[in-house]
Amino acid sequence: MKEQSSSRVGPFARSWPELARVDASDRRKLYRAAFRPVLRSWRYWGIALALQAVAQVAFRMAGAELAYWLPDYAREIRFLAPAVGAGIAGGVTVWLVQQRIKHNLRLLLNKRGLPTCVPCGYDLTGNVSGACPECGTTIEQP
Ligand SMILES: [Zn+2]
Repeated sequence: MKEQSSSRVGPFARSWPELARVDASDRRKLYRAAFRPVLRSWRYWGIALALQAVAQVAFRMAGAELAYWLPDYAREIRFLAPAVGAGIAGGVTVWLVQQRIKHNLRLLLNKRGLPTCVPCGYDLTGNVSGACPECGTTIEQP
């Protein structure tokens, strides 16, 4: 059972190919190490709050505007606008945070001696050309 789980690439690791490159027992630790600096970053909390604030103002205004044009029975739809705004801002925040976690994961893999292209995540093991074949980024030679 344990043997199987260490070789198997689960759905989580499939959407995070960076994690598939380390042992299953190590994935959680590596993911946490990549996530921690994002959680501690004032910049990301600021971005998350600013996105929520902008979305709330914009969607409340849009909801009020929309309600003006709608027939009486459909006007209550404007009460959904803040929820839609919160959802979209939340989705954008999750996407931004995931991009940063991927960036951090690639730096951590490089630190562990698993050469990885930081912009695109391509496995650069055995690469001698000095450029990523996937995205063309020049690789820093250690
Ligand atoms: Zn690349």
